[in-house]
Amino acid sequence: MSFKSVAIDGPAGAGKSTLARKLAEKLGFLYVDTGAIYRTVALAVLRAGVDPSDGGGVVPLLKDLEIRMGYGQDGVQRMYLAGEDVSEAIREHHISGVASQVSAMPEVRAFLLGFQRRQAQEQDVVMDGRDIGTVVLPEADVKIFLTAAPEARARRRLLELKQRGQEADYDTVLHDIRERDHQDEHRPIAPLKRAADAALLDTTQLNLEQSLAGLLALVKEKIGP
Ligand code: C5P
Repeated sequence: MSFKSVAIDGPAGAGKSTLARKLAEKLGFLYVDTGAIYRTVALAVLRAGVDPSDGGGVVPLLKDLEIRMGYGQDGVQRMYLAGEDVSEAIREHHISGVASQVSAMPEVRAFLLGFQRRQAQEQDVVMDGRDIGTVVLPEADVKIFLTAAPEARARRRLLELKQRGQEADYDTVLHDIRERDHQDEHRPIAPLKRAADAALLDTTQLNLEQSLAGLLALVKEKIGP
């Protein structure tokens, strides 16, 4: 039996995770947030006291890394590191940049590739990330590249951080988003880029409902109602 998959890629703050989660709910598919997996590796690296820019320090940690993904009763994805639920800890603002650093390492990506692919072999999924349509699930039934202007993304990210009670200012968040875009787009392995066969959805001028309607229309076009 083969399962259906929807791959959603795009830069930070384009609304990927909120939209992918809602889309999965509507379709009755499992939502897999792959950024959370990279963030968990980042947290493990920081906790080990290893410099995240030093591949020589990061790579040896992988073999003992105990990462697990699960779903709470509310259906929300949880991440576990050595048995501890780190779902909140990985959302701290400083983890984003570290995740971007470690995700540029080929060994880290290779380590997580099978982990991600297995999810799509076991159930229907909506999977979001940076390289899902290009590398992880190149045969996905639907591929969508979700983007928005950096300023719009910074405003949304700021709101999200404030809702979590985290202090941040607009200029810092915009600067961090630009830096992360650059890092993600220019890394030699699995850079953030639109797959040739991915549909483009720009959400700069769209609210959540409009963006979700756009996504659903693209999915229906490919896999029917
Ligand atoms: O999506 P999120 O912002 O949580 O991802 C954190 C970082 O993890 C990204 O900036 C990116 O560098 C990395 N990532 C990746 N490939 C993915 C998902 C995330 O390289 N599929």
